[in-house]
Amino acid sequence: MIIVLKPRISRKEEHAVLREIRKLGYATHVMRGVARTVIGAIGDELTHANLETLLAQFPQAVESVTPIQKRYKLVSREAHPANSTIRVREHVIGGKKLHVMAGPCSVESEDQLLRTAEAVKAAGATILRGGAFKPRTSPYEFQGLGEKGLKLLAKARRVTGLAVITELLSENHAALVAEYADIIQIGARNAQNFQLLIAAAGTGKPVLLKRGLSMKIEEWLLAGEYVLAHENPNLMFCERGIRTFETYTRNTLDLSAVPIIKRESHCPVVIDPSQGAGRADLVTTLCQGAVAMGADALLIEVHPNPAEAWSDGAQQLSLDRFAQLMKELQPFIQAAGRK
Ligand code: PEP
Ligand code: MN
Repeated sequence: MIIVLKPRISRKEEHAVLREIRKLGYATHVMRGVARTVIGAIGDELTHANLETLLAQFPQAVESVTPIQKRYKLVSREAHPANSTIRVREHVIGGKKLHVMAGPCSVESEDQLLRTAEAVKAAGATILRGGAFKPRTSPYEFQGLGEKGLKLLAKARRVTGLAVITELLSENHAALVAEYADIIQIGARNAQNFQLLIAAAGTGKPVLLKRGLSMKIEEWLLAGEYVLAHENPNLMFCERGIRTFETYTRNTLDLSAVPIIKRESHCPVVIDPSQGAGRADLVTTLCQGAVAMGADALLIEVHPNPAEAWSDGAQQLSLDRFAQLMKELQPFIQAAGRK
């Protein structure tokens, strides 16, 4: 940490600050400039006390305390310079292949899910998405089929061979959801529900962590740190749009998160353009952009009849439109050096 002292303080005050820093376990390095003295406090900031208390303790002497180390460790490239890969059944996420996770916003019925699963598989998706427990803004909206929905997802997996991703909403359901899911999704609304993140990590299943609606990237990385810190290395970050003043889209899909997360972290990055824009007509373009920018996977909502969907109708693609998207994505996948 870097501690900047106020101008014209006495040597006695300076020594008191130095003594306190050393007491907290840091070595000190004093740099005396013309007008100011700066102290470098040398030690692991993640395991030593936070020196910001110096501001309150020595208000006459200390002007600022600036941490140097990042607050996250295990998700960072420093801890793991190479890209991480995640095995999901026979697939590897974060490797050469771009994976497409596709399926309805909500599991509604066997017919709806199986028709969608067959179609997305035929078009090239490898993972089936579908919400069984739905986080709805209003308590009067469809809340998901619960365990019945999980059973339908398992059936769709048996029939098509697709792996399954579904959302975990509550710690109480962790074991139940893990019994059926190949990947556990933590939704935007729960992205900083730390007990839920710990419960998801504890299942041992790969975790896809959505970005919260108003979450800074640092907060998102720190939320991901909870998963790795609880001994689950299989984490992927999923950008799904943040809340801004814009009204042409449901959320503002922050594609700059792709290169930023890639630079900061070794974990795979997934883009969800469906929640991201809330508009089916933008999904293909946003997917193309995401692939070009280096996303490892896409999470796309697809429904046999979007107009009659029980949730998120405006953003779901019909089966034909999804097949078309997969074709229009091909040149971008190749240009990005992926398969
Ligand atoms: C979803 O994937 O359907 C969903 C509810 O996602 P989010 O948590 O990003 O809103
Ligand atoms: Mn949805």
